[in-house]
Amino acid sequence: MSRKRDYYEVLGVQKNSSKEEIKNAYRKLALQYHPDRNKEPTAEEKFKELSEAYAVLSDDEKRKRYDIYGHVGAEEAFRGSEANFEEIFRDAGFGGFRDIFDQIFGRRGGFFGDDLFSFGFGGGGSSSRRRGRDIAYDMELTVEDVLKGKKEEVDVPRFDRCKECGGSGAAPGTKPRKCTVCDGQGQTKRVYSQNRFSTIVTMEPCRTCQGQGQIIDRPCTNCRGSGRAQQVKKIKLEIPPGVEEGMAFQLRGEGEMSEAGISGDLIVRLHIKPHPKFERLEDGHLLYNLDVKFTDLALGTDLRVPTLEGSEKLKISQGTPSNAILQIKGKGLPRYGSTGRGDLHVRINVKVPTNLTDRQKALLKELHKELDN
Ligand SMILES: [Zn+2]
Ligand SMILES: [Zn+2]
Repeated sequence: MSRKRDYYEVLGVQKNSSKEEIKNAYRKLALQYHPDRNKEPTAEEKFKELSEAYAVLSDDEKRKRYDIYGHVGAEEAFRGSEANFEEIFRDAGFGGFRDIFDQIFGRRGGFFGDDLFSFGFGGGGSSSRRRGRDIAYDMELTVEDVLKGKKEEVDVPRFDRCKECGGSGAAPGTKPRKCTVCDGQGQTKRVYSQNRFSTIVTMEPCRTCQGQGQIIDRPCTNCRGSGRAQQVKKIKLEIPPGVEEGMAFQLRGEGEMSEAGISGDLIVRLHIKPHPKFERLEDGHLLYNLDVKFTDLALGTDLRVPTLEGSEKLKISQGTPSNAILQIKGKGLPRYGSTGRGDLHVRINVKVPTNLTDRQKALLKELHKELDN
């Protein structure tokens, strides 16, 4: 649960930069930090960060969503992105683009499973090794939740291991049997002779068991033999204090389970409801607009100001100007990933009286004359 840098900042582009500018910025930086070329220990991290930023900002839909909601997690960023990494690296003379990505992300057949990119890599891992889909969950928080953090158990509907058969796909009381054609491997070897010096060996999904490595004679009726069923899973979420609008947390392995039994992630996106009294400022500070009488400012007084936890006394000194902003230390919000709390900023706003009584009018007129002297 670490905080990510802004994608625009990562690529060194502006919020309104064109696609072409974004592509050029990525090309330049990605080639500079490409792990085949740059052997500094931080290069790989940097390359990952750049590639994720590019995957999002080069895709209109993802960019729009990012501008509104912020980060969603790396896998969501790459999934189906319009980014044409292949072209960029091929033009620069780097081969084996997929290998480099698989190597640095360390998730062969997972992160870069066939469904992740809209453009074809060709070949690649068999569909039976795919991870399940990531699930996005939108969570609404109040400003009070931001103050204290929030623990909540939520219901997430998702494809999960079938409870009837325990995920085997075979009717209860029966078992799948090993496919004898591929000896349970799910794939079969094919050998082509290219010429008399070389042969090409390819692995293909086994046709007898459809790449599953096993055969189910009597499928489980609940999941129709897939081993997965739609279920509602209760998941405990624990949101730390100080979170900000658009932040997202990634819960590994809490997404949908694929037929291969590999689960995707749950992406929890946070949305913070505006508070009726307090406006959130940078750095944990809050702003409150306080209406006061002209005489409060002229004479000085003590007033009570609401806070998120109750109220606090605020001293107004004699002669405080209108629109002054006074601070109540430490009554703002906690700062995420840091210590301490922001302050409550109180903006002083003079309320002009209406519906005056005759006596009030007379007194004010007298004061008015006096102030002119
Ligand atoms: Zn089942
Ligand atoms: Zn087989």
